[in-house]
Amino acid sequence: MIQNDDSSHQATRSARDAVWRGLKGQCPACGEGRLFPRFLKPATSCPQCGEALDGHQADDFPSYIVILLLGHILIPTMIEVNYLFDIPLGWQSIIWPAMALTLALSMIQPVKGGVIGYQWARRMHGFAR
Ligand SMILES: [Zn+2]
Repeated sequence: MIQNDDSSHQATRSARDAVWRGLKGQCPACGEGRLFPRFLKPATSCPQCGEALDGHQADDFPSYIVILLLGHILIPTMIEVNYLFDIPLGWQSIIWPAMALTLALSMIQPVKGGVIGYQWARRMHGFAR
């Protein structure tokens, strides 16, 4: 499905669909092409529909979202685990940083995809053309 013609640029873009496709690592326009050929490097254009994807300016925003989510997941978990179990401090100094790193690495690509999807749907930055 080609959506890179002039009429598609005037059409309404669903932010919900675009964010969901971005979260799944798919092109926000067609939902078929891969958004990330490498870990955090978005494709310059969709290999399926040809939609230009290089107009995003996600910058540090995905990192801020991940930090916010990570804090809300990890801190209550740490408090609850420490309340229920008596884990030696040495083990905790290994467990919690490892868990934080694992969670951050697993969340950063989907969150960045969601941010790019939202920017695409709202025609922000380079998606405004
Ligand atoms: Zn596409």
